Amino acid sequence: MWRKELKTNIRTIDELKKYIRLTKLEENQFKNIVKYHPMNITKHYLSLIDFEDPDDPLKKMVIPSLEEMNLSGSYDTSDEKSSTILSGLQHKYPQTALILATNICASYCRFCFRKRLVGLSSREVVKNFEHATDYIKQHEEINNVLITGGDPLMLRTEVIRGFLEELENIEHLNFIRFGTKVPVFLPNRILKDDELLKLFRNYNKQIYLVMQIDHPKEITSELKRAVKKLLRTGVIINNQTVLLKGVNDKPEILANLQSKLISIGINPYYVFQCRPVKRVKRSFQLSLFKGLKIVEEAKTMMSGHGKRFKYIMSHKTGKIEIIGILDDEIYFKYHQAKDPKNYGKFFKRKLIKSAGWLDELH
Ligand code: SF4
Repeated sequence: MWRKELKTNIRTIDELKKYIRLTKLEENQFKNIVKYHPMNITKHYLSLIDFEDPDDPLKKMVIPSLEEMNLSGSYDTSDEKSSTILSGLQHKYPQTALILATNICASYCRFCFRKRLVGLSSREVVKNFEHATDYIKQHEEINNVLITGGDPLMLRTEVIRGFLEELENIEHLNFIRFGTKVPVFLPNRILKDDELLKLFRNYNKQIYLVMQIDHPKEITSELKRAVKKLLRTGVIINNQTVLLKGVNDKPEILANLQSKLISIGINPYYVFQCRPVKRVKRSFQLSLFKGLKIVEEAKTMMSGHGKRFKYIMSHKTGKIEIIGILDDEIYFKYHQAKDPKNYGKFFKRKLIKSAGWLDELH
């Protein structure tokens, strides 16, 4: 049923033209852009966009823009290459193994930091799940596995069952995480598949969903129903939001989003600084200076529960919390570090107001 629904996705610029007016230049350039980074939008998500509003935040997240022609930045900002043990298995932090289970998502976010692979190459996707679990078995320091992609909930329930069965008997694993935006893009994947819910309910390790909700408009009645069903299975849902120019870069929007998440039982987890990804940086990244202002002002409007998230830069050296500004210096702290010598390290840089990433500060 949900797989059938996916067949109605909007994937070409000619189809898109039925919903939005494009200039000739946009039409030609978008056709070019989607050759490099495919467009894919569910009808459900499309129905949430107000095409009369030139600044609709959801539109910006899934429809190409001319700014994607800008090639500043990199396609592997977190240096995932150097943490890759075998195809589809990364081991950056001692406790966590990360499995890239697919390169497909229900819709493709234009700001995706794995833009190099979503909807494109499956070379980085896990080829043999057993080989990945063999590695995990041999590394007792790993206490959790993050299954991500792409979006792992796009896989058939039987495939997900196979993964979970493989991981079930590894004693040193305490919990399993799935990174997903499926409940936002395609809530029927959850609402119309009791087998998936049953699988989660009966699993003997704790399952966490790391969801990505970036704007309050994404919290629809369908999403709420999907979340309720998921929570009833015993999974815990944490949310990560990417701070995005023109999408959620207003304190009221960010505060409203986190408050709404709390009201439906989702825990705010991270707010990510948008990475300097090629074809993304120009259109979506805010400076750290602006980001901190927005985050701190938003926090003044939130309850303690709402502001449990950390504002994080997922840097090649680790997850770095962006703490604050004092005089002309900006302060950071390692939340997770690749190199043990950085564990918990607190440090500062001279503030450059336009800088969007650690590497632009000296
Ligand atoms: S759902 Fe996640 S992996 Fe898929 S395109 Fe969006 S950000 Fe990337």
